[in-house]
Amino acid sequence: MDIIEENINNVLENIENACEKINKNPDEINLVAVTKTIEPERINTALKTGIKNIGENKVQEIMEKYDKINYNPHWHLIGHLQTNKVKYIIDKVDLIHSLDSIRLAEEINKRAKKINRIMNVLIQINIADDEAKFGISHNEIDGFIKELSKFENIKVEGLMTIVPYMDNKEKVRPYFRKMKEIFEDLKNCDYENINMKYLSMGMTNDYIVAIEEGANMIRVGTAIFGERDYSK
Ligand SMILES: *Cc1c(COP(=O)(O)O)cnc(C)c1O
Repeated sequence: MDIIEENINNVLENIENACEKINKNPDEINLVAVTKTIEPERINTALKTGIKNIGENKVQEIMEKYDKINYNPHWHLIGHLQTNKVKYIIDKVDLIHSLDSIRLAEEINKRAKKINRIMNVLIQINIADDEAKFGISHNEIDGFIKELSKFENIKVEGLMTIVPYMDNKEKVRPYFRKMKEIFEDLKNCDYENINMKYLSMGMTNDYIVAIEEGANMIRVGTAIFGERDYSK
């Protein structure tokens, strides 16, 4: 068996075990294979194995790889997005995980309108108030959502967060728990283009804890493709 296939099976098994613990159907967990720095050939191997969603953090990389990827996966933009780059990916990605400003929303809305599509987005929340991370503060979320509701070509489908890396995974559990609370609260808001469907949290180091705390979308790179080589 190919090592990528073996790794994917491992991740799927971990997802199943975590779901069993919390009485959840594993089919509810959306696994996004994070493919940044990974060459198209290896991405295609993962897709052949059954991966349906791939996540990139750079616009440039999506552009370079787009025509080399087979199997027609869903593309996720998971990294910070600059307004001046929206135009390059507006027709390529299925979900933008990193909406964190009204200025960016305006640009996404404008570009989506131009090609007559609705862009699905997640709001990135900086749950740990980590200065090194993007995302809006949890205190700002209500006002932010209210403003977003005026954009007709944007559909808010949930929330995303990146928590600080910690060796002791129990230390990140409270952040995930808090995200889940915010997510559940927002399900009650009745703006037309807001539909809280996805809670995107958990990476290689902590996806099991994230699932236990209510994540239904996880973004996993290293556990599937091995350590990334940034030198290439
Ligand atoms: C790189 C990245 C991941 C995946 O990280 P791994 O630790 O390799 O699983 C997930 N989310 C975002 C936003 C990333 O940039």
